[in-house]
Amino acid sequence: MSTAPYRRRVGSVRPSHLMFTSGVGSLVDLPNFAVLVRGLDDWDHNSAYGWEKIAEPRLLEAVRRLPGNRKVAELRPAPWMEGLDADPNGPASRVGVPTTPFPAWFRCTVCNELAALDSQVFAFENVTARRPHEARFVHASCKNRKQLAVAARFVLACAAGHLDEFPYVHFVHRGGGCPKAGHPRLRMDDRGGNIGANVELACVNCGERRNLREAMGKRGEENLPRCRGRHPHLRTFDPGGCTESPKVLVLGASNQWFSQTLSALAVPATGASELQTKVEKHWDILSKITGGALMLGFAREHVPQLREFTAWSDDELSAMIEKVRAAKERGAETEDDGYADLRTPEWEAFTAPRAPEPGPDFALRRDPAGVPPALQGVFADVVQVERLREVRALTGFTRLDAPDPDDPDLVKPVPLSRGDSTWVPASEVRGEGIFLRVPEDLLRAWEERVAGSEALALHIGSYRTFRENRYSNRISGGFDPMRHWPGARYIALHTLSHLLIRTIALDCGYNSASLSERVYAGTEEDSRSGILVYTAVPDAEGTLGGLVSQAEPERLVGLVRRALNEATRCSSDPLCAERLPQPRADFLHGAACHVCLFVSETTCERGNRFLDRRFVVPIGGPGLALYPELP
Ligand SMILES: [Zn+2]
Ligand SMILES: [Zn+2]
Ligand SMILES: [Zn+2]
Ligand SMILES: [Zn+2]
Ligand SMILES: [Zn+2]
Repeated sequence: MSTAPYRRRVGSVRPSHLMFTSGVGSLVDLPNFAVLVRGLDDWDHNSAYGWEKIAEPRLLEAVRRLPGNRKVAELRPAPWMEGLDADPNGPASRVGVPTTPFPAWFRCTVCNELAALDSQVFAFENVTARRPHEARFVHASCKNRKQLAVAARFVLACAAGHLDEFPYVHFVHRGGGCPKAGHPRLRMDDRGGNIGANVELACVNCGERRNLREAMGKRGEENLPRCRGRHPHLRTFDPGGCTESPKVLVLGASNQWFSQTLSALAVPATGASELQTKVEKHWDILSKITGGALMLGFAREHVPQLREFTAWSDDELSAMIEKVRAAKERGAETEDDGYADLRTPEWEAFTAPRAPEPGPDFALRRDPAGVPPALQGVFADVVQVERLREVRALTGFTRLDAPDPDDPDLVKPVPLSRGDSTWVPASEVRGEGIFLRVPEDLLRAWEERVAGSEALALHIGSYRTFRENRYSNRISGGFDPMRHWPGARYIALHTLSHLLIRTIALDCGYNSASLSERVYAGTEEDSRSGILVYTAVPDAEGTLGGLVSQAEPERLVGLVRRALNEATRCSSDPLCAERLPQPRADFLHGAACHVCLFVSETTCERGNRFLDRRFVVPIGGPGLALYPELP
């Protein structure tokens, strides 16, 4: 990262982190101050030699479907160059993600003078190229000596994603100006603590004082000016202003930035998707064939275009025609609405009866002996994913509230650039994984068992209330709170995924944050039953093959036994075991907590929601468990 106009590195962030924990618009804490990652207009790929755009057509297409992204034609890695260690002043030192100090209000750690950088009270020092983290601001004339100045810790943010300086002058003078000076001098007495309870502001010129406590919380909102609609990463103000109330955030608050990303695995087209593509290509003809197998057979003999389908039987073709017809009927109502379906081709690649040809980005392996006998009631398929490649694109960000994983419209993301960008930042990682499929008939029988249960009713009710509380005022017109309900089987599969992730991490000494999950639960019409646990960080510990080897028959049996048996208890029981989602509270999990089920934010695809041990193993009684008897 470099901080223009200071034009030198002030720190480094791994490119992959630019997708998850920081990225365009986020504040990154450095030892003595914080910087804001600037918008894409300021990124410079020209001085980084040798970078290549990331190819993943499926993901690119999905990015382009999102509002404001029509012009996106490239996925680009963050500008980065090797060679900094060899030559700290060389070309690599000028390549990086551009940032700017934010907040730009600083406080002298000796005399407590509080001033903005443009007042020239503070000077920038970044003298040691080899130690960019020593970059700092100083109060040059403090009591005749140079003293360290640090960022004042407070900023304003609103739910529309705006970010602004804390209005110190306005606030200390209770909304007015200073009666004694046009540009009053301020002091900030910061007595520590992680909130603003002990921070007193004072005006040197007129003697006004005010505690920052009065800006905090619901009451504090009345003491703050309206949101100015500022996007400092773009150096713009929204022309229409903003109607949200700004809130005070302390530097380091985790809700200052949430990424909106899309990710796809590079999977080869399978027979199923090839057939679907061909059916769609010839839909003009095929849509008119309604007379059943006889008509289809006749048409295949006499319509030359249909010779393309010789590799498929009448039954296969007719099933695909019906599937495409149903999708088109559904699509007529919901077209271009929501996120693109990135998961179907992945599910098809993992479940295709004949595994796709292994390639550099994707290779699957099945044990010729099939699912180990001890696990035949647990899984219908076990697949070692020897190679996979995941590409993740950053498409926007939000503040205060995380974007909704299902619905891009609910929390409107902030754009990454001033105009329509022709590219978005992306990262690609290679890894490996384990794909497990739960028997469909087992899941169906379980769905019937839990359908009328109080526990499931509470999960559904809480989801409804949660969505209504959070989102109903953001949608004009018909708001269906249940539209993105992931379904009961999602909770069971998701819980199983967490159990396995935690056990793998414990057994193999992986940091669980280096593992990721994908749950393939499908929809009511198109049900699926798989989970993929995989490594997807560039610096994943463990050598290649470490995770895949967990799917070797003997190890897998041990792993699954331990995971399921440990799930029957939690050291927070009985509290944890008895927990049910509460329609009034903002949580969507049942028997689940940090001790037994939660994983890190970057690992879980749903923010640790939709988890409940009672749906997988018998706790309390066997009635609700997917596996009433453990292997
Ligand atoms: Zn000072
Ligand atoms: Zn004053
Ligand atoms: Zn705002
Ligand atoms: Zn627990
Ligand atoms: Zn999860």
